[in-house]
Amino acid sequence: DAFYRELPKVELHAHLNGSVSFQTIEKLISRKPYLKIEHGMTAIGKGQRRTLDECFQVFKVIHQLVDTEEDILMVTTDVIKEFAADGVKYLELRSTPRQEENTGLTKKRYVETVIKAIRQCKSEGVDIDVRFLVAIDRRNGTEVAMETVKLAEEFMLSTDGLVVGLDLSGDPTVGHGKDLLPALQRAKNCGLKLSLHLSEVPSQLEESDLLLNLPPDRIGHGTFLHPEVGGSQSLVDKVVQNNIPLELCLTSNVKGQTVSCYSKHHFKYWYQMGHPSVICTDDKGVFSTDLSQEYQLAASTFGLSHEAVWKLSQQAIDYIFAPDTVKQQLKQKWIDIQPHMF
Ligand code: 5GP
Repeated sequence: DAFYRELPKVELHAHLNGSVSFQTIEKLISRKPYLKIEHGMTAIGKGQRRTLDECFQVFKVIHQLVDTEEDILMVTTDVIKEFAADGVKYLELRSTPRQEENTGLTKKRYVETVIKAIRQCKSEGVDIDVRFLVAIDRRNGTEVAMETVKLAEEFMLSTDGLVVGLDLSGDPTVGHGKDLLPALQRAKNCGLKLSLHLSEVPSQLEESDLLLNLPPDRIGHGTFLHPEVGGSQSLVDKVVQNNIPLELCLTSNVKGQTVSCYSKHHFKYWYQMGHPSVICTDDKGVFSTDLSQEYQLAASTFGLSHEAVWKLSQQAIDYIFAPDTVKQQLKQKWIDIQPHMF
């Protein structure tokens, strides 16, 4: 449906290496034929599902394909252009800085290269404002988390506003949020915005309760926060009282089997309550989707009119991590486009 593609959109939850398209994977595979990686190992097709654990195996395969500066530059540039072609006007990309012994890649160089790609797209005039969130993989524990925060802090100061925040992600069944609290607290104190993956699996209630005290600036997924799925009213109260927006990814959660079907997605719970809810892709490459498709899916599943969908994409502007001046620019863009849509 052309409406969803033409709809101006804001993408706030996109993991770089999960967003790599079929076309880019093909290019990476031809650069590294000796890895014997096939496309079926890097994406989950239509109608297919995997366990969350299997999804994390997929990321390991993609990481093997993306391990040099050139790879990161190409992947970031391609991903940005693909989001722009899909009508995304503002994008917050997130990625975990990786060090690769084989290629000499360092974490610092990793972030520098992502920033370089963002700047290149800007100078080419690609019609999208891109910001970066440095990601902490929870699996790597306290010390790495603190190092990552320091790296993010450095880049926040040296990139005039391109690095806006920090993401906490990685396998939710590994590690505990309490070990990461000092790092997250430090990030918050130095002005980095926090987007935390919370309650992706049912066993994280205590951790979510603890991390909500920070409080984070946005929540990734929050699948099991509400009482209808074994969460609790007190967790919901904390989210509501602090007015913390949720980043919601329908296809990702259904394909990753943490949500049983689209109509049972927790978008319904939060949206009906009038709580800030932002539709996002998570990993458009791995889950074979794009943001237009996610909006269309939300609309068809929950019976949203074009007007309601418009409002949903417009309201997302309020929850971006870039400063107010950027919000004003985006709001103007939406005003300019609206007459062409209705
Ligand atoms: P990267 O950070 O390498 O650019 O993107 C892939 C990484 O993002 C994965 O290794 C994982 O740490 C994180 N990630 C991607 N999708 C998800 C998700 O659905 N849940 C969680 N918790 N982490 C994810």
